[in-house]
Amino acid sequence: MGKTLVSIALWALGGWLLGTWLGAATGWALFALGLLTMILVSGLQLSRIARWVRQIDDPPPPSVGPWDEILAPIYRKLKQNRLDLKERTRHFNRALLAAEALPDGALTLGPDQALIWCNQTAAGHLGLDLERDRGHSILNILRDPRFAQYASQSQWDKPLILSRGYGNQQRTLSLHLAPYGVGQYLMVTRDITQIERLENTRKDFVANVSHEMRTPLTVLSGFIETLLDWPAADQAPEAQRHYLELMAEQAHNMQALVDDLLTLSALESTTQEAGSPVDMAALIRAALEQALALSQGRHRFESRIDDQLQVCGQAGELASAIGNLLTNAVRYTPAEGSITVTWERLASGAAACRVADTGIGIASADIPRLTERFFRANRGRSRATGGTGLGLAIARHVVMRHDAELQIESTPGQGSTFSIILPPARVLAAGPPHDAPAAQPAGPAAGPDPAPAQARAQA
Ligand code: ADP
Repeated sequence: MGKTLVSIALWALGGWLLGTWLGAATGWALFALGLLTMILVSGLQLSRIARWVRQIDDPPPPSVGPWDEILAPIYRKLKQNRLDLKERTRHFNRALLAAEALPDGALTLGPDQALIWCNQTAAGHLGLDLERDRGHSILNILRDPRFAQYASQSQWDKPLILSRGYGNQQRTLSLHLAPYGVGQYLMVTRDITQIERLENTRKDFVANVSHEMRTPLTVLSGFIETLLDWPAADQAPEAQRHYLELMAEQAHNMQALVDDLLTLSALESTTQEAGSPVDMAALIRAALEQALALSQGRHRFESRIDDQLQVCGQAGELASAIGNLLTNAVRYTPAEGSITVTWERLASGAAACRVADTGIGIASADIPRLTERFFRANRGRSRATGGTGLGLAIARHVVMRHDAELQIESTPGQGSTFSIILPPARVLAAGPPHDAPAAQPAGPAAGPDPAPAQARAQA
């Protein structure tokens, strides 16, 4: 702006000097001529600028004086903006290319789950055409009630596994939604057809092998028992009897393993049913009786069981899970330790079955892995007590099939508490929530609580 003012001042000064030298009239005439020239030049410049604005990508027209002062910074700013935009576009394209290179499908959805963008993999998985489907709700595009139900949740901890037909092919997809920003969603899609096929082959193989082993094992055990009971067995050499007993024990362990494998296969392969009312009090007492028999009087048992608390589920499955927890409590609690079983309603409305022991406990690092098949925190002890390594894996499956939770708390050297928490939706009949009354000692016959006292089961 400074330059512009200086040139106007110089122009006026020139006009005044000419006026004093050549006379006022000539001076004014020259001054007016100068002004006219300026106006004409400005008009010409304005029309050039108007032309340039229409093709803003070109450099501005050559200009002098104030026009140069105005146009130069505009052009510099434009150039800078253009460079910035180029840089951003490059970053954006790089991100898009990376998203395209993802082995999984990715989609971004806006409010109302309207499709904004998807990579080629997602388009292939879901049969999308970005040009055609952009802006349409993914619910309308997929038209699957299972997906609609999944999408209606407020948070998505787990993916939805969806089997869809493509022509004459059936594909299994895993779809996982995740919210980001405000009203924005990212959906990751994965084709797990092959993984599922392999998993099914594995399950079938384990189930078939277990099934095929069952009969020969039963025959073997039967003959070993027969040999042990043979009339002349008493006269047989001591070593021979000892070996037969070892064989009987190992055959028994193998039978237990095969039984657990078959239970696990059945849990994995059968579809989850709604279930029916389960008298949990009776079921827990039956499991307690078996635990008392296993304990052979080595442990102190206590129980607190709410007789009115019933749930909806699969009685056989729940009995198997609770039986495993109680068997473990007996096996991992040294003699003279105590085992407490409670069945009660929590303040949240959920129902909890807890099995607490004062046994050897579990290191905290091992707790997350306990429900893995064949994981043993205490390998030596587990084998010595005839564990199959599948008890907690079975319990976890049962718990999952009942929308329940398996909680494990433990302190090494002090004991463990395993809790099965069934959600309020599973509770059918219940009295008021418990305020944790004192546990009652449980007897071997485990009748209705308060149980007839037998603080210590007899050997
Ligand atoms: P196992 O047949 O070996 O007992 P499980 O699946 O039932 O297999 O249990 C897995 C592992 O968890 C066990 O090997 C043991 O180390 C540990 N465990 C389970 N229950 C208890 C418990 N009540 N106290 C201590 N450790 C336990």
